[in-house]
Amino acid sequence: MRGSFKLARVFGIDIDIHFTFFLLLALFALLMGPRGLVLIVGVFFFVTLHELCHSLAAAYFGIQVKRITLLPIGGVASMAEMPKKPHQELVISLAGPVFNILVVAVFYFPLTALLGRETLMYPFLVLTGRAEYTGGFNILAHIYWINLILAVFNILPAFPMDGGRALRALMATRIGYKKATRAAVRLGHIFALFFGYLGLVNGHIFLIIIAVFIYMAASSEGMQVQVRETIKKYRVRDILGGVFETVSPTSTLAEVLEKVFHKHQEDFPVMEDGRLAGFITRRDLIRAAHEKDKSSGIGGIMRTDIPPVSASTPLDRLQKIMQDHNTSALPVEENGRITGVVTLDDVNRLYIMLTEE
Ligand SMILES: [Zn+2]
Repeated sequence: MRGSFKLARVFGIDIDIHFTFFLLLALFALLMGPRGLVLIVGVFFFVTLHELCHSLAAAYFGIQVKRITLLPIGGVASMAEMPKKPHQELVISLAGPVFNILVVAVFYFPLTALLGRETLMYPFLVLTGRAEYTGGFNILAHIYWINLILAVFNILPAFPMDGGRALRALMATRIGYKKATRAAVRLGHIFALFFGYLGLVNGHIFLIIIAVFIYMAASSEGMQVQVRETIKKYRVRDILGGVFETVSPTSTLAEVLEKVFHKHQEDFPVMEDGRLAGFITRRDLIRAAHEKDKSSGIGGIMRTDIPPVSASTPLDRLQKIMQDHNTSALPVEENGRITGVVTLDDVNRLYIMLTEE
């Protein structure tokens, strides 16, 4: 995610931290002093463990998790692919909240012995309205009970929170993935509106932020599923245009820009001796046009990390490859020959055509 940097690496998973997280640290330090800092670091320690549990469950099903990103609203584990079977998604999404519940259960007796029952139970009693807040504050007791909040909050069926994902998985076994997602998104929206209402009425700004986040995240993931399920029946060859241009590593930037203006093509395979030497995208060209001399050779600008796809690649797979390689175009190869260029615009055009009627 843009604006985040690596904090640590555990089980081959990068733990990234987003810069906005430091705003949260500063806010708590301002509001509560050093205690606030310890509290928020403690909370995020358990958020990280929660996300690691999702990741380990995913790894059990052979799904690789590249990184966990810590944001002010919680953690996000980025999986290399979506779980294919509903029962996999069910287990993966429940692994996080179950961990927090286990923490509450397992540490109850050790912490009771350490702090005394009254001190340990105090935040819980305040939380549930069974005791008045008198200013007593034990950080360990607070961090302990925050695990219960993490569990309860995440298990709510507010898609795309864990509970919402688990519910979608359960529904998917009966009504299919697409319909189940649509229902889960609607439920996510209802929860978001409800949280937003509670936040407004009680003046909890944090609840309002969470409501906005859930609403937007539900919509965006619903849309992604909608697109993926629609385009996955089609293959690269279905959207591949006939005529295309290639350039050579010795072509100058000026020559390639000239082609962009006259040929309605913005991404080019770079060919050398009839073989693919690299690829240059619209974005690379725009950047180079600002930074480099117009007489620079394309060989020094092109990307060499972009793989060709085959004409039989399904479009959902194509989209994933584009995402992974941070590009909106890819060269197409058939029997060792480059036969075209496929772009995200081509995919979008197909999607619009299919859904317009
Ligand atoms: Zn979770």
